[in-house]
Amino acid sequence: MDCLRSIYRNLQTFLFSPHPACSIFNLSIFIFPGTVLQVHSIDLFRSRKGANRLEHHTDRFHSDNLIIRRGQCFHMCIQLSRPFNTNTDQILLELRLGDVSPAHKHSFVTVPLVTEFKRDSWEAKIVEQTKNRLKLSVYSLPNACIGLYKLTVVTNCPEGKSTSPYTPDNNIYMLFNPWCKDDSVYLEDDGQRMEYVLNDMGNIYYGTKSQGCIGSRTWNFGLFDAGIVEACFFVLERSAAPCSGWGDPINVARVVSAMVNANDDHGVVEGKWENSYDGGVSPTAWSGSSAILKQYHESKGVPVKYGQCWVFAGVTNSLLRCFGIPTRPVSNFSSAHDTDASLTTDVYLDETLKEIKHLNRDSIWNFHVWNEAWMARPDLPAGFGGWQVVDATPQETSQGFYRCGPTSVAAVRSGEVFHKYDTPFVFAEVNSDQIFWRRRSDGSFSEFRVDKSAVGHCISTKAVGSDARVDITHLYKYPEGTKEERLAVETACRYGAKRSSLSSSSGSSSSSSAGDVALDISMQGEGPCVGQDAVISVILKNNCGSSRTITLYTQVSVMNYTGVCRDLLKKDQICVELKANEMQTMEWSLRYEIYKDHLMDQTALMLSVSGHVTETNQILAKRFNFRLRTPDLDITS
Ligand code: CA
Ligand code: CA
Repeated sequence: MDCLRSIYRNLQTFLFSPHPACSIFNLSIFIFPGTVLQVHSIDLFRSRKGANRLEHHTDRFHSDNLIIRRGQCFHMCIQLSRPFNTNTDQILLELRLGDVSPAHKHSFVTVPLVTEFKRDSWEAKIVEQTKNRLKLSVYSLPNACIGLYKLTVVTNCPEGKSTSPYTPDNNIYMLFNPWCKDDSVYLEDDGQRMEYVLNDMGNIYYGTKSQGCIGSRTWNFGLFDAGIVEACFFVLERSAAPCSGWGDPINVARVVSAMVNANDDHGVVEGKWENSYDGGVSPTAWSGSSAILKQYHESKGVPVKYGQCWVFAGVTNSLLRCFGIPTRPVSNFSSAHDTDASLTTDVYLDETLKEIKHLNRDSIWNFHVWNEAWMARPDLPAGFGGWQVVDATPQETSQGFYRCGPTSVAAVRSGEVFHKYDTPFVFAEVNSDQIFWRRRSDGSFSEFRVDKSAVGHCISTKAVGSDARVDITHLYKYPEGTKEERLAVETACRYGAKRSSLSSSSGSSSSSSAGDVALDISMQGEGPCVGQDAVISVILKNNCGSSRTITLYTQVSVMNYTGVCRDLLKKDQICVELKANEMQTMEWSLRYEIYKDHLMDQTALMLSVSGHVTETNQILAKRFNFRLRTPDLDITS
């Protein structure tokens, strides 16, 4: 017995001593099964009332998976096979988006452990270490792709490498983050975020333009119903758009506007405008998006029958709010449908003033419903961020597909229709002139009446925090009958014909139609400091041999750093007479008292100047961005 004990002790000494023989026999893994660092379990704190879901404003979503928003830290715990040694052990999180193979840099993210966050990439940091347990804080980039990420944890230590097995419990849904200043869907006001991101009920307006005839339909967006997050991402996955583009809300909104209609891509809802709805549900029978999205998901992508504009808008609203883009349905009354990008709504009559039916393809709908989505537009010059029209109703194709937007509402208002996407079409819906053409005896047509205010009335959306209807027509157009409204229509018509050549390229920040007057804007030196009046030179040069009369409209707005215009501070009108070949410099100033209450971090101001030349009808337009310097910061420059 003693002899056996002695043999056992010797064997133990041999096996458990750090003897070089061990490595010679390569026995380390076999003998020390605990030394390779292994992940026993991962806790994502994914429960709905847990800190992650509450901090990321995702606690109302029905899903039991972790749902987080980008650009914001979340917490997780890793239970290991032994204590973590910071000197020799390494841990890496791997997140794979979708089932794309091979993975590329946007859809496969590796997250290293760091000691301090630099916030220039995905990072993880240990915030607590007890025995075999690590608590991590994980930071994602504010431009990360949204979607379903599959998480695994890789460990590496001198004894070997190990990867945690994949389990669906570790799936993570990533959403856009309107609470994050660095996210391009950032929305500052908490009440607006509650309404446009988290409200699952809304009103959609319909009827005709006279005040008493506008009706309201309650729509349930169903955001937080069981299966809806999954169904919404299924719609995105069904599109041909690669998931590498899912970090850009401009792209996601455009994909959604295409996917919500069944045309081209077996999208969610099939439209029908005739009386028979056999084989489906009448568009007026729906009262929410849930049933539609679930049916589409459960059938693995069979279009749901039938919808009309408010159904397309209701479903679009659900998808974009679910993804975290602030969105609202918007109804336009007397909404024009310009079929030939002429930017006019044309009515053709014969010699006896009877309609010529086969020529009249343009129409004015009693009402039309689309959506607005809130985002910065870094692809456009400053000032065009903010609300963007997204319209999923299949009306006209855009670059070959039934989709529309995102279209800058600010660009529609000023008539700068050369900015992408689909601005001429949206402009025509809200502010095209209705032109009546009469056939002459020789067969040609002459314009005999123009109705400048037939189109675009009572543009409506639900108020923030209440059921009231809010009229937002002023965001889309200047009041009918004003010079600014005419200028916007003239600007749009000059560029409208160029739709096809301009719609795919980015616009420029200034424009002037061919003419002999030049407009320029400049500022002396580095510009004013906060506390001083801002003085800017507006320079007009007449390059021709006869005199010119110019009317200019100026307005200055506060703009945040993503290019989203906020408050309008001041509007002016300037009339100038220029002699032959004369140049005049006018000083435009903004007093400190006017802007002092509107300054925020990194605030810039934008001066827009537009106008026309009386003699030639030349149109002038220019935008000028400037900042007010902070005196303290000058020390370092
Ligand atoms: Ca489609
Ligand atoms: Ca008009």
